[in-house]
Amino acid sequence: MTDHSDKPSGDSLVEVCGLVVRYGGIAAVQGVDLRIGAGEAVAIVGPNGAGKTSLLSAIAGIVRPSAGTVEVSGRPLAGLALSDVVRQGIALVPEGRNIFGSLTVMENLRLGATPRRDASVAADIDRVFADFPILGERRDQPAGQLSGGEQQMLAIARAMLSKPRLLMLDEPSLGLAPTIVDKVYELLGQIRAQGVALLVVEQNAARAFALADRACVMSRGVFTLTGTPEEIGRHEAFDAAYFGVAMTPTAGAA
Ligand code: ATP
Repeated sequence: MTDHSDKPSGDSLVEVCGLVVRYGGIAAVQGVDLRIGAGEAVAIVGPNGAGKTSLLSAIAGIVRPSAGTVEVSGRPLAGLALSDVVRQGIALVPEGRNIFGSLTVMENLRLGATPRRDASVAADIDRVFADFPILGERRDQPAGQLSGGEQQMLAIARAMLSKPRLLMLDEPSLGLAPTIVDKVYELLGQIRAQGVALLVVEQNAARAFALADRACVMSRGVFTLTGTPEEIGRHEAFDAAYFGVAMTPTAGAA
């Protein structure tokens, strides 16, 4: 694997170093290094229980690492309140979307902008309604009445209202019909084109690989393969790694 393939080419936006996440006796993440460049798209795939959600949760400040560091533009996130992590430019669309079903579409969107202190939130919400007319039409309806695909669009729009530099998504295609997944990934492509970095955890490797500059296969708490999506996809060990057969961790940072 070439050296340039598993490291971001530009300035580093996020640096994860030696990250360990434990839940009691369970070591979910067992020493992960990951650098994400500004505007870069990185895909993480791997079997259930590999530690992917735990990794995203630690970067988002939702779970506290047992060891290791997460830095954004050189600034450690340790000890920051969640809202301050968001202000550093980190946003997460969690698995299952975490839409507040009894709140209206508008209320859900406003929640996404809570950490902001600037005056252009209303204009940004208007832009969401222009881009997604269905959300505008249903702005005063409970978000729980939206379809799964509409809720995913709402979750992404809500996260984007915090004006992130890194948008993380956990299983964005889960439970959605292929045509809706097309729309979700079209939207992610547009977000990336705006210069926002993406970190996407996916069961659907083909979808995530089509979007990503770099990819990592995670298994049992570590990265077992890293490289460009093309390199990973044709790697002889990809199927084994993707389906969770024990492998030796990759050396060096991803
Ligand atoms: P999935 O795709 O199934 O969500 P994953 O790769 O995202 O899997 P994690 O959800 O991070 O993996 O889980 C990694 C390990 O940590 C698993 O063994 C899981 O059971 C365990 N785990 C995750 N969250 C908790 C928690 N809150 N308390 C205890 N154990 C947890």
